[in-house]
Amino acid sequence: MTLLDWIEFRTIVAALTGGFVSAIAFSSWLIYKYRRRIERMEAQLDNIIQERTLELQITLQELAEKNELLEAQSTTDALSGVRNRAYFDRKMVAELNRSRREQRPLAVVLLDIDFFKQVNDDFGHLAGDQIIRQVAELIQSNLKRCSDHVCRYGGEEFALILPNTDTVGAVEVAERIRALLAAAALHVAEHQLAVTISAGCYAANADADSSPEYYIHCADKALYQAKNAGRNQVISYPSLFNASASDTASKEQPHVSS
Ligand code: GH3
Ligand code: MG
Ligand code: MG
Repeated sequence: MTLLDWIEFRTIVAALTGGFVSAIAFSSWLIYKYRRRIERMEAQLDNIIQERTLELQITLQELAEKNELLEAQSTTDALSGVRNRAYFDRKMVAELNRSRREQRPLAVVLLDIDFFKQVNDDFGHLAGDQIIRQVAELIQSNLKRCSDHVCRYGGEEFALILPNTDTVGAVEVAERIRALLAAAALHVAEHQLAVTISAGCYAANADADSSPEYYIHCADKALYQAKNAGRNQVISYPSLFNASASDTASKEQPHVSS
């Protein structure tokens, strides 16, 4: 190999090496650029995901609130503001299961306003509605445990669900409400009305055969006895004792004072 050949060979090798280095440098620059781009896109994607997650959380929260409102509306009695019959039916099934499972007593109390037809006849249906509302409020505000519930069972009849309560406890609750209502003056327009209620109580540990209908049937039997015994009193089924018959029984029509 001549000197010239040697120089030419070195020049070619240098050119090739320079091209290779340049190619590597260019590729590295490209990779760096794309990596930066991917990082930017990932950051943008992260932002979008965070925004969407937040929007989704807000939407879910709103949905939960609307569901709660709907649930409250569908289980609330529009006239009295307490729970309705549908709620009673559902809650009773759940509480019977709980009573069966935990072997604790469940009590049901039926409360019916005495001589209510007379109130409607004397003061009109709208006044009757006001009385139903006031009685509902009085009952509601006198339930001490948050597990106790008052439902409007029908017309001017209310049903209490008292979990973990035996007959004595149920009679106590009903008697307290009866006595308070008997002592209270309800207001309709410019009139003050003395309104009373009769109540029937039934309590038992639920077993495999227990049903809401049976509890209502027994409480209704006691209520029937309370009405027959003169109203404004509380009776349990089976009749253990009559909490208020001796001093309050009355076959009189509701007392009205203007
Ligand atoms: P008792 O002492 O035997 O219970 O006599 P009562 O007059 O209360 O008789 P009952 O319980 O059988 O009658 C209930 C009446 O309540 C019949 C109906 O006209 C009236 N009523 C039912 N629902 C409503 C209501 O939503 N508003 C009003 N104002 N009255 C109602
Ligand atoms: Mg009645
Ligand atoms: Mg009735």
